[in-house]
Amino acid sequence: MILKIVKYPDPVLSRPGEPVTEFDAELRKLVTNMFETTYAEQGIGLAAPQVGVSKRLTVIDMSMGKKPKDKLVLINPEIISSEGKQYEDEGCLSFPEIREKVARHAKVRIRAQDEKGKWFEMDGEDVLARCFQHEIDHVDGMLFIFRMSALKRDLVLRKIRKMQRAGEW
Ligand SMILES: [Zn+2]
Repeated sequence: MILKIVKYPDPVLSRPGEPVTEFDAELRKLVTNMFETTYAEQGIGLAAPQVGVSKRLTVIDMSMGKKPKDKLVLINPEIISSEGKQYEDEGCLSFPEIREKVARHAKVRIRAQDEKGKWFEMDGEDVLARCFQHEIDHVDGMLFIFRMSALKRDLVLRKIRKMQRAGEW
């Protein structure tokens, strides 16, 4: 089932998600629906607050549905180490049509639980590292516009207000 994506400035996006404690059928259904929604929107990642569910959960698929091995479910994820810097364009399904450069770490190591509750660690670099940082920010209630310079953020917010007035947001 394709879920409705919540757009900025819905308050659920700015609220830290609740830890996931039940690894049950309901959670698996949410994960399935979040992958379907990500593919429908041609994204590479989606966090639960973006579908209005204030939980610490995100799904990532760099292959956009082409390689089953690339499907990642990160539950209660956290970054445990990071190194280097990258500065590349970034988008967000909660900010349609907005793409801006955001400073991120070049490499990160994360820790998360899988759908069964088992903890694992994983390294990511380049685009995957960027995606880990963007999605883990979402479960913390942090949005990518607040990682931009104040000048860029003002421009983005102005563009959003213009789109809102035109009924395009
Ligand atoms: Zn996002």
